[in-house]
Amino acid sequence: MKMKVLLLLISLMALNMGFSQNSDITPNLYETYESYKESSLNKRRIKHNELQPLLIKHGANNAFTVKKVGESIEGRALNLISIGSGKTHVLLWSQMHGNEPTATQAIFDILNFLASDDFQEEKKEILVNLTIHFLPMLNPDGAERFQRRNLLGVDINRDAVRLQSPESKTLKYVRDSLNADFGFNLHDQSTYYNAERTDKPATISYLAPAFNYEKDISEKRGNAMRIIVFMNNIIQKYAPGQVGRYNDDFEPRAFGDNIQKWGTSTILIESGGYTNDVEKQEIRKLNYVSILSAIYTIAKANYKNIAIEEYEKIPENDRKLFDLKIVNATYRLMGQDYVLDVGVNRLEVDKEGNNDFWYSSRIIDQGDLSTYYGYESLDASGLTIKQGKVYPQVLKKIDEFNTLNTLEMLKQGYTYVRVINIPREMLESPLPMHIIGTSYKVKDTRLKVGINPTFLLEKDGKPQYAVINGFLIDLTTGKGDFKNAMIYR
Ligand SMILES: [Zn+2]
Repeated sequence: MKMKVLLLLISLMALNMGFSQNSDITPNLYETYESYKESSLNKRRIKHNELQPLLIKHGANNAFTVKKVGESIEGRALNLISIGSGKTHVLLWSQMHGNEPTATQAIFDILNFLASDDFQEEKKEILVNLTIHFLPMLNPDGAERFQRRNLLGVDINRDAVRLQSPESKTLKYVRDSLNADFGFNLHDQSTYYNAERTDKPATISYLAPAFNYEKDISEKRGNAMRIIVFMNNIIQKYAPGQVGRYNDDFEPRAFGDNIQKWGTSTILIESGGYTNDVEKQEIRKLNYVSILSAIYTIAKANYKNIAIEEYEKIPENDRKLFDLKIVNATYRLMGQDYVLDVGVNRLEVDKEGNNDFWYSSRIIDQGDLSTYYGYESLDASGLTIKQGKVYPQVLKKIDEFNTLNTLEMLKQGYTYVRVINIPREMLESPLPMHIIGTSYKVKDTRLKVGINPTFLLEKDGKPQYAVINGFLIDLTTGKGDFKNAMIYR
């Protein structure tokens, strides 16, 4: 009798191991990602016209159907790409906010994966059980300007009921005509979100939106929670601790909440920040891996055993990150010394055409910032904040930059250089020093929220660090991740 039980146990274990090996394609997806990455989309500021050759390419493949399902206000086509013949319908839409492109890129990586000859067995499983529909870049007019809202100036995600925008009408029409079983609502969030009470950025945040004020958990919403638990476990492998969970207060105007209400298990995915990943390409990869794995688990229907309680255990989203956090700096005001922490964010300013950007940084907060975190941090104990000076020699032309030893100048306390002829087209200073025009006066500014973070950190009257436009430079080594300083004409 005992022997039989033991044998049964062993065979169950073997079955279980085989099952989990078969069902976990995630490591393979992660390893082989580069073969499917759509290399033509490698920066965040992607435009509608860059997607068109890709749609033509996939449209020529018999496995896919590409159908125009609507138009933006400016007449840009909204296309639905479908694949598979299963009875479970999965709908994924991205970039209803024009400046949130990470998942659009991941969708085209997923399309490349589905179009390839690899992973035959897994793909058969997926395409027999599911019909998958992609609606990438729902707000192409916003993408053109790298802005959140559409051309009507409306947040599409508050237009799910009033349906004034053609983009909103299209999403509603597509959802209703498919009556999709699962919906993936794909966004980007601020890089300043962190997993609550940790210094870990919320690289990915999730929400199974509520469909009523009571926040009831129906079977459909429960399934969305189960898929989120499944995806969270994947992200934890590659970005440990870097997942947040959004507040599930009901928003009656939002698409996620309404699509959940209309009967589609809806999963909101927000791509946030990741250290040293300005163009969010690592986050894009995590989107690809986790969304494809989720699609596979939906196809195999093996998410059903996941406990909903695990969903509540994902840490909540918080917004407590700075790009740079300086702690315990000494600051002298009216002859008195004070200890200050300083929180700095490097804000992006788009160049004309919205294809590229430069940085204009701000002090976001100062004081006791012990409940905050930084992507980059400096303990400035024993260091005193000192305003920089204007270099006494005036340069005639920008070419004369080459003759300057900027590290030496910073060490001597200079953070501004005056130039007579600043070319009109020049937007940013390539030097770790602000460029100022002939009549520009550098004011003796008190350190305060809202100003450009530019100062020196001195020890015994000698600058040890410079902060220029929010970029920290170690003056002993010259090291720092400097991008640009400002021009004040
Ligand atoms: Zn969004």
